[in-house]
Amino acid sequence: MTERGQDNRKRPWLRRMAPVLIGYAIVFGLLTVQDRADAPPTVAYTAFEQQVQARNVAEVFSTGDTIEGKLRTAVALPGGRKGETYTKFTTERPTFAADDLLAALEKSGATVRATPVVQQRGTLLNLLISFGPVLLLVGFYWWMLKNQRGGGGLLGRRRESRVQPGTVKTTFADVAGIDEVKSEISEIVDFLKDPAKYRRIGARAPRGVLLAGAPGTGKTLLARATAGEAGVPFFSASAAEFIEVVVGVGASRVRELFTEARKVAPAIVFIDEIDAIGRSRSSGGGFGGNDEREQTLNQILTEMDGFSAEEGVIVMAATNRPDVLDPALLRPGRFDRTITVSPPDQRGRLEILRVHTRHVPLAADADLERLSRSTPGMTGADLANLVNEGALITARRGADLVTAADLAAALEKVQLGAARNVVMPEAERRRTAYHESGHALLGMLQPGADPVRKVSIIPRGRALGVTLSTPDTDRYGYDEDYLRGRIIGALGGMAAEEVIFGLVTTGAESDLEVATGLARNMVGRWGMSAKVGPVSVLPSEGDPRATGVSEQLLDTVDEEIRRIVEECYVSAVKLLRDHHDQLESLTERLLERETLDETEAYAAAGFTRV
Ligand code: ADP
Ligand code: MG
Ligand code: ZN
Repeated sequence: MTERGQDNRKRPWLRRMAPVLIGYAIVFGLLTVQDRADAPPTVAYTAFEQQVQARNVAEVFSTGDTIEGKLRTAVALPGGRKGETYTKFTTERPTFAADDLLAALEKSGATVRATPVVQQRGTLLNLLISFGPVLLLVGFYWWMLKNQRGGGGLLGRRRESRVQPGTVKTTFADVAGIDEVKSEISEIVDFLKDPAKYRRIGARAPRGVLLAGAPGTGKTLLARATAGEAGVPFFSASAAEFIEVVVGVGASRVRELFTEARKVAPAIVFIDEIDAIGRSRSSGGGFGGNDEREQTLNQILTEMDGFSAEEGVIVMAATNRPDVLDPALLRPGRFDRTITVSPPDQRGRLEILRVHTRHVPLAADADLERLSRSTPGMTGADLANLVNEGALITARRGADLVTAADLAAALEKVQLGAARNVVMPEAERRRTAYHESGHALLGMLQPGADPVRKVSIIPRGRALGVTLSTPDTDRYGYDEDYLRGRIIGALGGMAAEEVIFGLVTTGAESDLEVATGLARNMVGRWGMSAKVGPVSVLPSEGDPRATGVSEQLLDTVDEEIRRIVEECYVSAVKLLRDHHDQLESLTERLLERETLDETEAYAAAGFTRV
């Protein structure tokens, strides 16, 4: 992952340089070729004398011993290709030549001119060529600077990412399934519509609103909708772009953003992904660019402290890590109001699906209600993507209406990833089938576990197979049995390989990460280990030692994690041994069909479900 990240950072540079280099090469090449083509052939001085004698020289121009000239009629070029003739020429007059050239020329009736017969490259062009590389370099730097300033540029710093009031067309009609936060947002809209009303009765209006929630839950959308609903200008910037810019520019960008907003208040200043700069100074991110981050953050705080609420500028910010934010940001008068945007529940998902299918022609059998039930945990962004995938599949079929089957195929693609077109060796397929059956069967066997929705041995992305389990209803909290069940399920693939083949392959790597991660949280954060006790040991990020956790306690945590994972693995192996027949029949069916849906999978494992 890190390697790929570095790659991405380097490549744009190459890509930016390329047009400059190629452009230069082309200009240089063209000029050289043109020079060659225009240059008259050089002929021997004796050949030139012959032409003078033959009275065939029309005019000459001479600098020093170099003579350029033009013939009256073209003659064969000495030493040239067959049939090649010339009229223009240059020649060198030997210094020892003792002839009276001028007299001979006059006698032959040639004009002796002071201007070149062949036009030399102009001074301007010469200048341009010699300064070309410098100009290109300067231009390149200017352009780079411009890009780095987020489109501002040295000369065009006014060009903000500012959006005029009319251009925010997003309204509450585009945001669905967030009824619980709508009332809070409505209050802000009301204030922005008529700040004077609040001013009259001396009410302290909100100043900073922090939208917190998982990625894709619609925070950015909500901020835009607030501006759209209130009909006020919307100034937005992503916090990440503050720290990417040239050193020292972040703070001035912030100042500019607020100055512009104040000019046209009431307005909204929106800072997206604020955790990029608003991380608590003690936690994480101890590498370069820290000063820049802090300066920018301080500037935001200064700006927020500096204006009075009556001005009618409301600062909104979004983050998916409210827990890592610097407490200074959350003090009264700053982001003193936090609105948590949660992933939608089933009703919310249905509404979001309705919003996103407004302009999508649905077939009669496309049941959004059912789709909303089979997508627990999906965010607004996931659902928007799902609808779009469905429409793409329909378009590819060449059909006009999006059917239930299209949506089901889209859901499979979204949940499991796009299928990869590779032929697996038979042994590998078998192993994968046992592995996935192991996951699936353990999911089916354990009471209270999330039902298995899909099992597949079609390679997708990096995975050779997938087993998908999602809860029936939206779950908000988990108990210990459920979590242990999840760990057992995650280890099921590995356990099946051991039961059948007696050894384990590398395919279980990500399964182990899942299992260990769950166990780690159970012990370190959710107080589910008697030995460690109901204390929070592991912070959500950073080094636990920084918060005063002793080495000894950490050792105990490690031991407990190991114990839980080991116990779960033993259970997984035992369960699969006890249900060996079911494992075999599920695997056989999977090898035959490659993908099984919920009903097929349970039937293949010999379960009768209602
Ligand atoms: P976030 O900023 O929380 O990561 P975004 O606001 O960028 O999420 O959401 C991405 C897209 O997902 C939106 O443009 C919208 O199409 C869709 N979306 C997310 N939440 C909702 C919602 N509640 N209602 C309708 N669409 C939504
Ligand atoms: Mg966003
Ligand atoms: Zn697995």
